[in-house]
This record gives sequence, structure tokens and C-alpha cells, in this order.
Amino acid sequence: MISFKDAYKKVLDLYQDFGHEQVPLETAMGRVLAEDIVADRNFPPFNRATKDGIALNYDAVEIGNTSFKIEGVLAAGMPSQLLENTSNCLEIMTGAVVPGNADTVVMYEHLIIENGSATLTKTPNRGQDIHLNGSDQKKGDLVLEKHSTISAAEIGVLAAVGKASIKVRTLPKVAIVSTGNELVEVEEIPLPHQIRKSNIHTLYAALSEEGIVPTKLHLPDEKASIKNALQNTLKEHNAVLLSGGVSKGKFDFLPQVLEELGVEKIFHGVFQRPGKPFWFGIQRDTNTVVFSFPGNPVSTFANYNVYFKDWLRRSLGLPQPKIDVILKEAVEVKGDLTLLLRVKLSFNRGHLVASLVKENGSGDLCSLVNTDGFIVLEPKIDAYEIGELVPFVPTRDLL
Ligand code: AMP
Ligand code: MG
Repeated sequence: MISFKDAYKKVLDLYQDFGHEQVPLETAMGRVLAEDIVADRNFPPFNRATKDGIALNYDAVEIGNTSFKIEGVLAAGMPSQLLENTSNCLEIMTGAVVPGNADTVVMYEHLIIENGSATLTKTPNRGQDIHLNGSDQKKGDLVLEKHSTISAAEIGVLAAVGKASIKVRTLPKVAIVSTGNELVEVEEIPLPHQIRKSNIHTLYAALSEEGIVPTKLHLPDEKASIKNALQNTLKEHNAVLLSGGVSKGKFDFLPQVLEELGVEKIFHGVFQRPGKPFWFGIQRDTNTVVFSFPGNPVSTFANYNVYFKDWLRRSLGLPQPKIDVILKEAVEVKGDLTLLLRVKLSFNRGHLVASLVKENGSGDLCSLVNTDGFIVLEPKIDAYEIGELVPFVPTRDLL
């Protein structure tokens, strides 16, 4: 048994680098950039009209002209064009190139258009309503940094600089394995002594949020079959996440089987609740990391969120998020276990406030639907007080 802090550190120390790969823009959402992205041209690439109206040369306004003969119309997508006479104007639409010898755009709302001329109803300012060439970014400027996570905003920038294919960090190949003779499929009507599998579905869903499509496997509480099946699973994956069969029960074969398969135990048992029997190890010749979580649904869920997610982030070159929340009530943590307590968050004047979720132990998976995450409380002589800041691990998006 080791402390929570040591367990967390040992898990993160075994992060791995899965390299990088090229993916098409359409599937890059959520991935981590493995290259710096620079602007391939100025942003915007020309002086762009930002209003529908006319383009004119302000010198003509300065000498007192208020009416301008319209030479033609410039639409977005038309090549750049000059005013033939700088006392005239060209009608111009948003997104069109402002003529090189014009410097001001006046919107239709400030004009009267009559008999082929535009008359000002309001004095403009020189340079107004033009998005200047290169004023956002210059060609060659860094627009996205390596290690950024690609969200919808980054997708737009990648598209704008012509990246149809993007170098991203490769995700690990993950297997999720549930164990237990009592477990039946979701479609089945369980007998009175059986329950439906849920952990495998929770883990599958959680991994799909990371863009990982894991291999699924279920094993009976039977040593030979477990050993047989795990042998190949370990070879074919970078990480294996097991649930159940890792405690002290007569049919908890995993610790023994994993060691027989050459998986080096890094630790078995953490001074924490829930999830105390967590077993963690690595098969050195394949470099496969094994997270063997106790099967109680809340234990699997907590350990996945606390350990696996941060291991994954570090493996992808991302920092560990550090979130603190404010306790809404006092909590005593006596004894030697670090508590991972289910909390619901509320926003109070810009602060995140955590209240404990009513729950019935680590088997109570329904309590997780009211849960936004876990607060991590180390044992302490004095109680944690109302208003105290404590570390928080989210288990869902906070909005
Ligand atoms: P174990 O860690 O195998 O001793 O399991 C602890 C408890 O979690 C038992 O009550 C199991 O029935 C339950 N359990 C184990 N695996 C799953 C699973 N995949 N889905 C739902 N409950 C599970
Ligand atoms: Mg079991």
C-alpha cells in the first residue's frame, strides 16, 4: 500500500510518448498539435472592406467634396481594382479588396445614392471601416503553438492557413477489460444474482471523449482464461484498463496473473477511498501500462478520472490541470485514507463552490449523475473548514 500522492506520482512518471501522425482537418477536433502553425500569408491578406457602401480617397473629403460619382461596384471575390479618378468612388461590399488609391469606406447607412452618385450624410474619418492588410497577423507569425488542443476555434485557423492535413500527437491504443461472473450484457434480463455490466460502458464513453476508441473485452473469474486473453491484449495495446478482480477475494486473480505475464507491479493498494485496491504496473518488454481498477463503479470511475486522465495528458505533452474549489461545508478526514469525495459545483460570484453529493458508498453509481467531480482530501487532524480551497478533479464539463 502506498500513499495517494506517491501513487499519483508513480502513475505520471510512467507516461509514454506515442509519437505523432498526420490526420485530415475533419478529424483533428480534440487532438493535440504536434507542430507549430504559422500564417502562410497576412491576416487579412489585403485591405478588406468591413462594411457595404463606397470606397473613396479621403483627400477628396478633405478639400470639401461631399458627392462622389460611382465608377462601378466591387464585390467580395473580385481582383483588386483602382479608382480611375480619386475624386470618384467605387461601391464596395464587405470582404472586397479596397482599391489601392482609396483609404476610407463609408457604409450605405451614411449615404444617399442617387443618379449615379453617392452623397455623404455624415463626415467620415480617414481610414474607417477597413481591416488593414496584415493587421491581425503577418505572414510567418506563429498562430498556433505545438501542444495546443484543437477545438473548433483552432479548426477555423487551421483551415484559414491551408492545413488540410495536420500533424498531431498519436493517441494510445487502449483496451478496456471488465471481469466478473456476475456480469451480463445490457440487453439481457439479469437473474436475481446477476447485474448488468456498466463499467465497460462508462470507460468506453469516457475514452471516446478523449478521441480514443478502445478495444472491449470481458473475462470470467477464471484464472486460465484471464491469463490467456490478457497475454495478447497486453501485446496489442499501449494501455490496458481493467475493472474488477483486483482485491483480496478468492476469485480476484488479476494481481497474480498480471505478474505471471511479466507485468511489473509498481504498486497494489493506495491509501484512498474509494478505489483502494488499485493495482498499477508496466510490462517492460511491450511498454504496456496496466491500470487495474477495483470493480465498484465509483472506484473505477474515480481512478480513471484521477489517474488515467492525467497520465494520458502527460503522455500527450499536456500539463496537469490544477483546479481548486471552495468547500461549502466542513469535512473531517480522520484515519489514513485520502478521500475522493463526490461533489456538485455551483458558481458563486465567479467562484466554484463544492457541496458534497449524497451517496451510498462506492457501489452507488447512480450518485455519479449528480456529481461534477471529486475533491481530493488528504487526512488531517483538523477538519477542512467552510470556505477552504481544496483540489478538484472534474468528471464532466463544468458548463
Ligand atoms: P470486484 O472489484 O471484482 O470485487 O467488484 C466489486 C464490485 O463491483 C462487485 O459488486 C461487482 O459486481 C461490481 N462490478 C465489478 N465489475 C463491474 C462492472 N464492469 N460493472 C458494474 N459493476 C461491476
Ligand atoms: Mg469481481
